[in-house]
Amino acid sequence: MFISNTNHSEDQPPHLKLKDPAVPIAINLARYAAPEQRYCPAGVYEIVGQDEGEPRLQINAQNCVHCKTCDIKDPTQNINWTTPEGGGGPNYPNM
Ligand code: SF4
Repeated sequence: MFISNTNHSEDQPPHLKLKDPAVPIAINLARYAAPEQRYCPAGVYEIVGQDEGEPRLQINAQNCVHCKTCDIKDPTQNINWTTPEGGGGPNYPNM
């Protein structure tokens, strides 16, 4: 049996993770007016749903240019940036 392990870029697991998904709204937006919307040069972090009164943080991870700013600058260190594609090498299945 042949198992295709083709690695499409659209299928990448998210490399930007929030330790606590409630923090961007409960703390970052409330106290600091969501700084991730300003320090990210690629517009990855977006507060959406404010008009409906249900703000949430949308992460456009596909726009990320891997500058690592969010990993350093998040006020609560809630954002965990990891190297995309597990270090960059191709992932060969066992033959
Ligand atoms: S690593 Fe840089 S470009 Fe990517 S999400 Fe963080 S701040 Fe934005």
